[in-house]
Amino acid sequence: MEQLSVLINGGGMVGAAAALALAQKGAHVTLLEPKPPSADNSKEPDWDLRISSVNNSNWEWLLALGIRDCLRPQRVFDYQQLTVTSLGGQRLSFHAKEAGLTRLGVMVENNALQFALWAQLRTLRNVNLVTGETLDKLDTRSKTALLSQGDALNYDLLLGCDGANSKVAQLAGFSYRGWDYEQRCLLANVSLEKPIGPETWEVFRRQGPYALLPLTEQQACLIDYGLRDDINRLEKDKNALEKHLKKAFLPHVGDFCLLKSASFALQRKHAKSYVKSGSVALLGDAAHSIHPMAGQGVNLGFADIRCLTDVLQRRSQSSALIEYESIRQGENAKMMRMMDAIQFGWRNSKPLMQLATSASLKVAGVPWVKRWLLEQAVGK
Ligand SMILES: Cc1cc2nc3c(=O)[nH]c(=O)nc-3n(C[C@H](O)[C@H](O)[C@H](O)COP(=O)(O)OP(=O)(O)OC[C@H]3O[C@@H](n4cnc5c(N)ncnc54)[C@H](O)[C@@H]3O)c2cc1C
Repeated sequence: MEQLSVLINGGGMVGAAAALALAQKGAHVTLLEPKPPSADNSKEPDWDLRISSVNNSNWEWLLALGIRDCLRPQRVFDYQQLTVTSLGGQRLSFHAKEAGLTRLGVMVENNALQFALWAQLRTLRNVNLVTGETLDKLDTRSKTALLSQGDALNYDLLLGCDGANSKVAQLAGFSYRGWDYEQRCLLANVSLEKPIGPETWEVFRRQGPYALLPLTEQQACLIDYGLRDDINRLEKDKNALEKHLKKAFLPHVGDFCLLKSASFALQRKHAKSYVKSGSVALLGDAAHSIHPMAGQGVNLGFADIRCLTDVLQRRSQSSALIEYESIRQGENAKMMRMMDAIQFGWRNSKPLMQLATSASLKVAGVPWVKRWLLEQAVGK
């Protein structure tokens, strides 16, 4: 990969990890990002609201990229157990021990992870970080990117890692299938009166699930999905919001104090192709936005990078990109269909769907089926 010149648009978690993975294999990488991570928030005592659960396989891979020393340990929390409860009250639990691991994954603050990736990128001589200019135009025939201040950059490979509204996708003419969910996702960081264990859980209800992500022994991120208008109304009144959260969560975790909250619109969006012109590829949310209920979004993005890095080492660029698209589009589509099925099945109150859900949980109790589901959770 020594001769490869890679231009990456977007240095969020996926773009920065892609830059690091490819640069460590010898590629010459230019990373364009208008909002580089700052260390300012590292002084804040409480976690930011934007956090991700990263599965164990991806976490091991990120650590192998050398980020450990730049990560704030207070912004990473190992979790060992995952429990899901269906509308009918059936429960399914996975423990790391069942996969022979010490953790299923980690909760990590997005900023802290992005910051650590950038700190590592700054140590590499074959990486050029560009933060003062943005991508303006693209000539895919001559493989030239024109930047906002008039500079022209040539590339062998251009990666769109610039999120759900990808400029690369727009300029290179990628198209998508998808829809907006009527739901919003409400995130609330709370401090808890009683300590909790390293367990993440999710309970399905008719109006959408609610879930807890542990951040420390006495802090958690509470997640509540609801109709757009209901969430918007709650956010206007802090007391009503706290009361609403307590109704759902108090029976599970005891009393708590609301620290901060925000809500996010949800969309399902999947690029019809991931690759164009033998030299442009989409990764992460630029290629696929998925409902966050199973905490898979950035995990799929990291899997995209791992696949692309692998195929680029084994094949010519054009064959590598074809293989990348074929593998990752299929895998990501499978996960999206799974989310749709969960959305439909686990929340559904119709007796037949309830029966199917309890049947699926009963089947999941069979060791090999449960083992397969567990492997999906840890990212094997
Ligand atoms: C509420 C919520 C909870 C979630 N929880 C989880 C979870 O627990 N686990 C999980 O795996 N996923 C989770 N996700 C999904 C996860 O956050 C995303 O999949 C992930 O952030 C995608 O990373 P990305 O780098 O591809 O895109 P982004 O995070 O969108 O980053 C894109 C980057 O590109 C930059 N950019 C944008 N436009 C341009 C441009 N024109 N030029 C240059 N740069 C540009 C941006 O500044 C940004 O840095 C969650 C999502 C939501 C909404």
